[in-house]
Amino acid sequence: MTGIIEIDHLSKQYGSGTKALSDVSLTINEGEIIALLGPNGAGKTTLISIICGLVVPTGGTVRVGGHDIRTDWRAARRMIGLVPQEIALEPFEKVINSVRFTRGLYGEGPDDAYIEQVLRSLALWDKRDAATKELSGGMKRRVLIAKALAHRPKVLFLDEPTAGVDVALRREMWQVVEQLRRDGVTIILTTHYLEEAEEMADRVGVINHGQLLLVKPTAELMDEFGKKTLTIELD
Ligand code: ATP
Repeated sequence: MTGIIEIDHLSKQYGSGTKALSDVSLTINEGEIIALLGPNGAGKTTLISIICGLVVPTGGTVRVGGHDIRTDWRAARRMIGLVPQEIALEPFEKVINSVRFTRGLYGEGPDDAYIEQVLRSLALWDKRDAATKELSGGMKRRVLIAKALAHRPKVLFLDEPTAGVDVALRREMWQVVEQLRRDGVTIILTTHYLEEAEEMADRVGVINHGQLLLVKPTAELMDEFGKKTLTIELD
């Protein structure tokens, strides 16, 4: 079956040092939510960064919607929205302008009806004229998601969407992902938490030391390993 993302024998070595990814192959299907689970330094961000065209792989190929990220990067990049780990927003910019700006970066013309739809679906419409510095941490994360969706990507990457946030905010983020699932967006997220993968994802890929150790439907993984065993293995 042809996936919306096809990763084939991907590897990455930073300089002559760390081998961050080793021979990773994975097909991600349209509409699915996949969680990449692994501890610090496992290679999750490197994998996402390569697919998003931010890091050059040492070997292997990645296709997004059939477009090779090396030879056809513009079309590949157009299909992807990235929500980075760090919150980096222009503090004095209004929410709606920040989202409009990102849309413009992709060469897309204005489409305020679509931007309204995105802001409403993320419960940000009432805050559209607020400066981003006035928002709570959860709202800022939702603005980042709105910006990532601004050019109507088919695939959304969420790099550790709940790192360093409290339980309430984590649950809020889970609800946002559920909403995006209903909108038909394919989602790849990274996490340290098995419970988060279980809550949100259709499949889970376990990464450690740059290797994709396994990929399984979430229910199957939970049946086989149970929370305790897997946590111990990853630690
Ligand atoms: P975390 O959960 O802490 O974000 P991660 O699973 O996303 O970790 P990566 O950030 O991909 O892991 O890092 C994988 C390995 O590559 C680590 O050993 C890291 O130190 C190394 N690494 C990452 N970026 C670079 C870089 N720009 N230069 C050199 N080494 C790097």
